[in-house]
Amino acid sequence: MENYAPKKGTFTFTMIKPGEENQDYIGEILTMIHDAGFRIQAMKMVRLRTKQAEMFYRHLSDQPFFQDVVNYMTSGPVVAAVLEKDNAVADYRKLIGATDPTKAEDGTIRKRFARSTDRNVVHGSDSDDNAAEEATFFFSMGERYNNEGHCFFGWGN
Ligand code: UDP
Repeated sequence: MENYAPKKGTFTFTMIKPGEENQDYIGEILTMIHDAGFRIQAMKMVRLRTKQAEMFYRHLSDQPFFQDVVNYMTSGPVVAAVLEKDNAVADYRKLIGATDPTKAEDGTIRKRFARSTDRNVVHGSDSDDNAAEEATFFFSMGERYNNEGHCFFGWGN
């Protein structure tokens, strides 16, 4: 099988975080993502288990809010998706806005929908390598390859 891997910078990973209020916004958030020029390469609604959330957020494990993040992220289903666009990681970070929504610019997803830092509605990868790791954390090989062996996202692993 040809081991074609996508170029760096062509995709990013996002989650719409749990909560009834966020579920009400799913359609509008996806429209904002589409209107900003991103194409959805993969998407699923899934409920994280505690171990998975701890693994996903392990870089925050020494932070005082770590347990709150894990509890929140396992409290209901997330919408996980891989988004394709040139300069995807940086452009998507721009679209979601600052971690603290009170500091997010007008027109960003967090400015529009988020109430607080710990309920900031969306996740977006902060580097190409993290985008690949996070995308492959959620989507299996069968979801990432076409019949010709082309890998749509991840580093061809
Ligand atoms: N977070 C929090 N309290 C804080 C800082 C972060 O609850 O003081 C949560 C928040 O949900 C954030 C996530 O931890 O989105 C990851 O933090 P990071 O600094 O990576 O921000 P992001 O990349 O999501 O903007």
